[in-house]
Amino acid sequence: MHAPTKTLETKEKQNILLVDDRLENLLALEAILEAPHLNIIRARSGNEALEQLLAFEFALVLLDVQMPEMDGFETARLMRSVERSRHIPIIFVTAISKEDIHVFKGYEAGAVDYIMKPLDPVILISKVNVFLTLDSQRRELEKTTKSLRETIAQQEEYKKVIEKQNIALKELSIRDGLTGIYNHRHFQELLAREVALANRHDTELCCLMMDLDYFKVVNDTLGHPFGDFVLKQFVTLVKEEIRSSDILARYGGEEFIILLPNISLNDANKVAEKIRTKVETHTYKDGIRSSNVTVSIGLYCNRYHSSENGSENGSEDLLRFADKALYQAKELGRNRVVVYGPESSDEHLVCPE
Ligand SMILES: [Mg+2]
Repeated sequence: MHAPTKTLETKEKQNILLVDDRLENLLALEAILEAPHLNIIRARSGNEALEQLLAFEFALVLLDVQMPEMDGFETARLMRSVERSRHIPIIFVTAISKEDIHVFKGYEAGAVDYIMKPLDPVILISKVNVFLTLDSQRRELEKTTKSLRETIAQQEEYKKVIEKQNIALKELSIRDGLTGIYNHRHFQELLAREVALANRHDTELCCLMMDLDYFKVVNDTLGHPFGDFVLKQFVTLVKEEIRSSDILARYGGEEFIILLPNISLNDANKVAEKIRTKVETHTYKDGIRSSNVTVSIGLYCNRYHSSENGSENGSEDLLRFADKALYQAKELGRNRVVVYGPESSDEHLVCPE
């Protein structure tokens, strides 16, 4: 077998395979085509050509039609049957008369051409160059496509990271840093939504405004770290008594608020009372200090009291009335639930039980 005489590894160079059973024809072709950017490989038979095609990547094959054993057409047919060499362009080199050229019609359009013997160097070089240019363009396109794919994949990665960061940032912006429940600002957003829903569907919406009693004393006597510890535990206790659909937020320092949609005043009152009892009986211990804390709760339900002028209950009403009830609970001696009520006056507050 005729071994390749030139390095095939150089990336910029293009490989051309010359196939002819006669060495003098190969040498003649090579003399015409020789150029610095080309690796010219020779094969003396169809079989040898197929071996070279398996070993290297070629931009073009110049294929002698008349060869003993396997002729050019058979060689081309076998080339087309293998994925690796299926799309390599072929220029048939032939002495067949122009009238018989129809035999080439069976081949893939655009990837095949022919040249007549005796060879005209100008025609040969121009035909070869057409295919070499196409091959260069294809390679460039492949490179571009590959780097484009990589860029897109990278961008997808960045996008995922940014999305995650955005989610984390969003979470941070709506949560209270100490307790992890919603902060005041986000609560206002949720409140507006819940009030609108309750008004649209004419459903109940209750609000519990809660304030830890004498919390300043806890902070002053046992220290702020312990105060923070109490606030966190308080939130844990409250969470155990509410539904996942209820909205719990830190309203201020030691003030908390809960929105309870779709619940009767009676049931909301039970929830409030459970929270109050639970908090009253809980002892906060951090291993060094311990303390008991109570909570005052103001409760307002949109059904229980409609606005004076019959207008829809707004967010402000809800907060104002719940706050009034809480104020009343403080006035009445703390550690109690006061329901904002009822029928007539804003000032008429009742303490259940
Ligand atoms: Mg021949």
